[in-house]
Amino acid sequence: MLDSYGRKIEYMRVSITDRCNLRCRYCIPDGIAKVPMSAILTYEEITEICRAAVSLGISRFKITGGEPFARLGCTDLIRSIKSIEGTEEVTVTTNGQILHEYLDELKDIGIDGINISLDTLDPERYTYITGGGRLENTLRAIELSVDSGIRTKINCLIQRGFNEDEILDMADLAFRYGIDVRFIELMPIGAGDMSKGVPGAEILEVLKDKYPDLMPDTSRHGNGPAVYYKRSGSDGAIGFISAIHGKFCSSCNRIRLTSQGLLKPCLYYENGIDLKPLLAEGEDAVREAMEKAISSKPKEHHFGRQDETEGRSEHRLMSQIGG
Ligand code: SAM
Repeated sequence: MLDSYGRKIEYMRVSITDRCNLRCRYCIPDGIAKVPMSAILTYEEITEICRAAVSLGISRFKITGGEPFARLGCTDLIRSIKSIEGTEEVTVTTNGQILHEYLDELKDIGIDGINISLDTLDPERYTYITGGGRLENTLRAIELSVDSGIRTKINCLIQRGFNEDEILDMADLAFRYGIDVRFIELMPIGAGDMSKGVPGAEILEVLKDKYPDLMPDTSRHGNGPAVYYKRSGSDGAIGFISAIHGKFCSSCNRIRLTSQGLLKPCLYYENGIDLKPLLAEGEDAVREAMEKAISSKPKEHHFGRQDETEGRSEHRLMSQIGG
C-alpha cells in the first residue's frame, strides 16, 4: 500500500528476538534487560501479522534480531512465512556465529538471501568489537553460504579510528566471492551514539583510489536503499547504505515489527502501533492497525541534525528494533 507521501510500502523487517549472542560495542555492549518470553510474539503471532501484511501488499520480509538464530525454531518461522500465499521473498540477517548449523535447512526452505554482519577481518579486533565473538565462525558462515548458492551479502560498519584501515580488505571480499559487500553508516541509536562512523562518500573515495574502474551499478540488488558500484568484469558489488549522509527517506519502502509486536513506521521515532493485543481480534483488526501505522509514516528522519536528539524520540537499542 501507499503511505501518505505516496511511497509504496512493500517490505517489513521482522525482529524475532532482542537477545543476541554478541555484545557489539556500538549496539548492546552491556547486553539487554531480559524481557519475559510472554511479552514476545509467538511464531504463530508473527506469521499472522505477516499474513495481514501480505494482504496489504507487503510481501518481502527480513528476519532479524537481536540475533535471529539465538531464538530456537527460527527456521520453522521462516518456513511458515515462506508458505504464506503471496509472499515474494524472505531473507535473514545474522552475525553468522552459529549460521552453519542452519544452512542446510535454510537452503531446503528456499531462503531468498542471507545478510551477514562483519566489520573486520582481524580476529582480535573481531572479538573486541563484538564483545567476545569468533571471527572464524563468521568467515566460515560466509564461505558455506556462498558455496550453498544462497544469495549472500556482507554488511560492514566502518568506525573512525577502529577499522578505517580495512576498507579495501572488506571490499575485496565482494570481488573474491562475487557477492555484495555493503558499507552501512553508523546511526546514533543506542550505543551507536557513543561511536563515530565514517561517511559512505569517504569510503567510496578510498575505493575509487584503488579501483578507478569502479562505476555506479543501477541494477536491482534487493529491496533496500543501498547504492551500488561495480568493477568491470567482476560479479561482486560494493553497496553503500548511507542513512545519515545520503538520506533516502523519500524512497523508503519499509516498516519494522519489533519482537514485542510494535509496528514502527520509522526508525527515528519511538511511536508505532502495538499489534500484540489486536491479534485476539483477528486479521481484520491487525490489518486496520497496520494501515493506520503506514498512513502515519513520517516524511523523514532527522539523524545528523544539530539538534537531532530533540526531535528523535526513539530510545530503544538497535537490537530491540532489528536494524
Ligand atoms: N544480529 C543480526 C545481524 O548481525 O545482522 C541482526 C540484528 S543487528 C542489530 C543488524 C545490523 O545492525 C548489524 O549489521 C549491525 O552491525 C547493525 N547495527 C547495530 N547498531 C547499529 C548502529 N548504531 N548503526 C548502524 N547499524 C547498526
